[in-house]
Amino acid sequence: MIDCNEAVNYIGVDIGGTNTVVGLVTADGAFLDKFSFSTDAHLSAEVFSRRLHQMVSAHFSAKESRPTAIGVGVPGGNHNTGFIESPENFNWGRINFEQLLAGRFQIPVKIMNDAAAAALGQLRFGTAREMEDFIHITIGTGLGCSLVAGGRLITGHNGLAGEFGHTGNEKGERICTCGRRGCLESWVSAGGVKKTVQELLQAGDVPSALCARLSGDFTAEQVTECAAGGDAVAVRAWKITGEVLGRNLATLVSVVNPGSIIFSGGLTAAGAFLFDPLKEALEENLLDMHRNTVELRISDSHINYAVLGAASLVMNG
Ligand SMILES: [Zn+2]
Repeated sequence: MIDCNEAVNYIGVDIGGTNTVVGLVTADGAFLDKFSFSTDAHLSAEVFSRRLHQMVSAHFSAKESRPTAIGVGVPGGNHNTGFIESPENFNWGRINFEQLLAGRFQIPVKIMNDAAAAALGQLRFGTAREMEDFIHITIGTGLGCSLVAGGRLITGHNGLAGEFGHTGNEKGERICTCGRRGCLESWVSAGGVKKTVQELLQAGDVPSALCARLSGDFTAEQVTECAAGGDAVAVRAWKITGEVLGRNLATLVSVVNPGSIIFSGGLTAAGAFLFDPLKEALEENLLDMHRNTVELRISDSHINYAVLGAASLVMNG
């Protein structure tokens, strides 16, 4: 029973391939508190749910901050069934995640694909509030995509729409985490950028003073630092990443005719190194009728819209 004098708060969880962000939010989309922890996706979903429960109990134990329901954005999360469908980069298999978490927390739980949750957060609380038609792209560990058409999030017949990252037919020998060859995600992701740098260094036809000094487990952020320092391999790597994404987004734009494309995720920190070649490749591959009609926006990295979107799944009922 909820005391009517108590504020009703919700938990939003954004499960990423590397980190999980948990927020305690109000019905207006304001963050009361937030923390993050390492997803450790190589461990089981059971282990994850136990850790999540422990940390939520430790952080949000005060009576006034007690949540009434939990919304979760997770790769492969199926809003229709409550199952996660064997997401790439995770060792979780196919499991009824809503049931697992509801059993642990003893409050209502709703899940959704993480990329869809981010789009929902933008739609309800972000810059997309006035938008009817937009594409939301998340670029980080993986490449997430959501489409909003006519003000509605497209979830698809089985709740699994938006796997844009696992489309594409890029040349080369890269095998994606899904097992296919040529997927966008094998190029446009943290691992994809790293691979591009390694291939450029190996080919040796572009000079590199900074990238060549990076250790084996370098990050996309370090590639951006090298680019800022004038390293030609780093600049070329971001150019290739932008071109691959821009060219393929042109196909999506031709199909759904969005007003905007909103980008979020860690790779957006590459800024102009990524977005200048992206925009150029996008415009170059569009039909005349679509040219200069799509606005590119980068989401405010200080607000986690995937957490807000996830929380909004359990608001109003
Ligand atoms: Zn793939």
